[in-house]
Amino acid sequence: MSVRRAVFAALPMIALLPVIVSAQSTDTGVIDPPLSSRNANYTIAARLDPGAHTITATETIRWRNITHATATELQFHLYWNAWRDSRSSYMRETLLGAVRPNADAGLRSEGDRARIDVTAIHLLDPDVDLTATQRFIAPDDGNTEDRTVMTVPLPRPVKPEESLAIRIAWTAHVPRTFDRTGVVGSYYFIAQWFPKLGVLQDAGWNCHQFHSSTEFFSDYGTYDVEMTVPRGWILGATGVERERRDNGDGTTTHRYGQDDVHDFAWTTSPDYLVRTAPFQSATLPPVAMRLLLQPEHADQAERHFAAARISLRYYGEWYGPYPYGHITIVDPAFQSGADGMEYPTLFTAGTDWIAPRGATTPEEVIVHEAGHQWWYGMVGNNEFEDAWLDEGLNQFSEGRAIAAANVPDHLVLRYFGGFVPYVLNDVVRTREVDSNMLRAYRGVATRDTPSTASYRYFPTSIGGITYGKTALWLNTLERWIGWPVLQRGMSDYFATWKFRHPKPNDFFDALTRAAGRDLTPFFDQVYRGSNRFDYGVDDLTNVREGDHYRSVVVVRRFGEAIFPVDLLVTFTDGERITEHWDGIDRWKAYAYERPAEARSAEVDPNRVLLLDVNWTNNSKTTAPRGGIAATKWSLMWLRWLEDHLLTWASLA
Ligand SMILES: [Zn+2]
Repeated sequence: MSVRRAVFAALPMIALLPVIVSAQSTDTGVIDPPLSSRNANYTIAARLDPGAHTITATETIRWRNITHATATELQFHLYWNAWRDSRSSYMRETLLGAVRPNADAGLRSEGDRARIDVTAIHLLDPDVDLTATQRFIAPDDGNTEDRTVMTVPLPRPVKPEESLAIRIAWTAHVPRTFDRTGVVGSYYFIAQWFPKLGVLQDAGWNCHQFHSSTEFFSDYGTYDVEMTVPRGWILGATGVERERRDNGDGTTTHRYGQDDVHDFAWTTSPDYLVRTAPFQSATLPPVAMRLLLQPEHADQAERHFAAARISLRYYGEWYGPYPYGHITIVDPAFQSGADGMEYPTLFTAGTDWIAPRGATTPEEVIVHEAGHQWWYGMVGNNEFEDAWLDEGLNQFSEGRAIAAANVPDHLVLRYFGGFVPYVLNDVVRTREVDSNMLRAYRGVATRDTPSTASYRYFPTSIGGITYGKTALWLNTLERWIGWPVLQRGMSDYFATWKFRHPKPNDFFDALTRAAGRDLTPFFDQVYRGSNRFDYGVDDLTNVREGDHYRSVVVVRRFGEAIFPVDLLVTFTDGERITEHWDGIDRWKAYAYERPAEARSAEVDPNRVLLLDVNWTNNSKTTAPRGGIAATKWSLMWLRWLEDHLLTWASLA
């Protein structure tokens, strides 16, 4: 998922990793040998009725118990029931945080809401009808009105390494878009749409209710999915098209498949333009890119491909190659609310009718969502519990990739309901501040501790903590231990945990191994704590003593969090002294006897600690330069004003 904003900074490119491609992807989505456990495999047949906004479907799930526990029940996500009424936990959380554009949910007509009703459940081989045994549970909050988790008791237990097959039939009502899913006009985006197994772990089922600010978790498998839609409609889905049949009744059935993924999403509309382009690299496997574009964005096709190539290249070089051989980029319909979301081998972008050069729409969201193929797609952490493991790593990686690719990124103002953009060419957005979401983090820094299960965060702190804080501390770590070390740690984590379900300690272990030293104190500060970082220069004084000066600099830890920081003291004769402070005490004084006065003192002069919530107190000088700054900003402001007036005049 994307929180749209932007990036830029020119940083040196890193050396290419040696690449080993261990599996081959063909254009049928078949991968041999398998990359994942493939213990949750879905064969689905679904029919969309656009007139009634319904989907009627059946699925057969072949599931293998890969835990040490014996399963006595199955638990399924029925995500669409979150939008069935206002009493679901999702809807209640939405009101609590007022985060999502669902404020009108209580006013929506039945036809604009969603629902998923399971009409039949049969255990196969031999057939046992379990339909009547289904019931809803609410493992997270006990909300008896929530119907997003269904349990079905098993007539015979499934022991470790045993398998079962189960067939489920259901009907679903497609909502006017909720949370990137639904219908607007004849644009359909269908995600989280089928009864999906939770993840059985040694401790039992991990099957959380649908929450307003967290996402998903499921096991890897193969998907073979038939979707029947009106003839002539364009369709895109996870995987690749294996077969297309005209049913002779005005409908066409598209069969898509993909191995080694943990989800399946699709979209259909009569209006898409279809464009294709290749990704090619000397060191990475090729990827066929397919773009489903809104007609009004026809001139932006190449920008979409170029942005997707940024992720395929840099994430591929830094972390490991993209193994699927194809990727689908979906440009969602205007006001569909479906932009900026990731699914295996498919993601939604999001652009504007007028997308000026110099700004990162649509690049930013594309780099982010394509990047989720690594953090979320291939490395399948539990997004209910450890959302930062994909969103935070991806936010960090997105900013780094956009900077590495030198995508120009300036502040954009938008007028007339957002239709008319104005690029402020004087205001360059930076990776360190804008891409890492420093402002969002600052606003919520102490509201949640990252080690809390993500679904228990206050709904509005997810952006600043899950995305921003993680990106900031990873970028801080990069500046502290160096990118080669961090990159080695992250690629090692990727190699170890791809197509599996890591926990936070697995990531910390990989970074610690790469760093060759204990980083626990740092992780304690940034992950197991919610304290704010704020170092500053509290005082700078010079006293003449005979033929020399005695200068004293007091640095102070204003925040509760601890990090080692440097202090740079500059004297009027040009001498510069750098001190290394462990940052542990509340303050420390440095005294100097020198022939010249100290002119300035700056704590963390290289801005290693990007988590510092207040940079304005980081330096002090004895020679005020405020006048120069005021003049500079006044001139810039006048220039903007002039540009605006000219723009308005040209529109008059
Ligand atoms: Zn995301």
